[in-house]
Amino acid sequence: MSDGTTSKASPAGFADSNDRTVGLIPAAKPFSVSKPQPAGTKPYRDFSDFLGEHFAGKVQKISINAGFTCPNRDGSKGHGGCTYCNNQTFNPEYCSTSASITEQLEKGKAFFARKYPTMRYLAYFQAYTNTYASVERLRAMYEEALSVPDVVGLIIGTRPDCVPNALLDYLAELSRRTFVMVEYGAETANDRTLQLINRGHSWADTADAVARTHARGIFCGLHLILGLPNETIHDFRATIDAVAALPIDTLKLHQLQLIRGTRLARQVADGEVTVAQWSAEEYADVCIDLLHRLPPHIAVERFVSQSPASLLISPRWGLKNHEFTHLLHRRLTAKSNS
Ligand code: SF4
Repeated sequence: MSDGTTSKASPAGFADSNDRTVGLIPAAKPFSVSKPQPAGTKPYRDFSDFLGEHFAGKVQKISINAGFTCPNRDGSKGHGGCTYCNNQTFNPEYCSTSASITEQLEKGKAFFARKYPTMRYLAYFQAYTNTYASVERLRAMYEEALSVPDVVGLIIGTRPDCVPNALLDYLAELSRRTFVMVEYGAETANDRTLQLINRGHSWADTADAVARTHARGIFCGLHLILGLPNETIHDFRATIDAVAALPIDTLKLHQLQLIRGTRLARQVADGEVTVAQWSAEEYADVCIDLLHRLPPHIAVERFVSQSPASLLISPRWGLKNHEFTHLLHRRLTAKSNS
């Protein structure tokens, strides 16, 4: 996504079962760990549940690189970017700034329509900071995406310090006629960590952006990274507790990925900072611990991200997103039944 670490860029586009499609799915049960969970039960609300409340058929996100830059790279908010960021990892291969928004969406549609002819689509403005332009320019881009046949809404990834009220007012107006969600890269509620990773904004910025977005009736998602430098389970829990107090609709969790060529990779190699070195099972247990603290109305969109193997230093679990989700469900069921 725009302001997290990474997203996947497999040749097959994105293949996360949580991201992929949504039909009409029975309402999610509140998450309860006190009752045994039968194998295969999904014990929390996921993104499919959330989208199923808004769309009657299958819906697929298509990532777009609209050619934005980032205010944490160009000096407006900071220089050098977040220490973990390498934007090469963001986009499926059909995204490129040489293709127009329409061309990118049509290419994505062609990929999915072969298998699902009745599929409809959400334009996912993903790479860099997708609100970093004038309202007039943003309006033209968003409305170009919405003019593509079968595109039924927008998801806009951005930083919490890049959403002026004038833009949110426009998005509020837009959301009265189509689906609009703004997805903020919050990463952590710990301001010390935010400084350490050169994020360029504070937790207060996130809380403020979410409040202003929610107040206008716009769907709101947050993105967090688990395993940022020097953080422990206590920091993750504090962040989830802070998130739980915000009026958000969806949440993405990602493991920190150490990416070649980033400042963070150099800092870790030089021993300046430490980052979590966990197995997939250990990370799943952290996610389970955090799910216990999350209000059941918040839909969890995903737990992991997959960067291209050529760029990834660690962790190298070799699991696809849906494989990790199955692992987590198995462990959750085992814990609930024990
Ligand atoms: S804010 Fe900029 S530097 Fe930080 S993760 Fe997003 S695109 Fe990368």
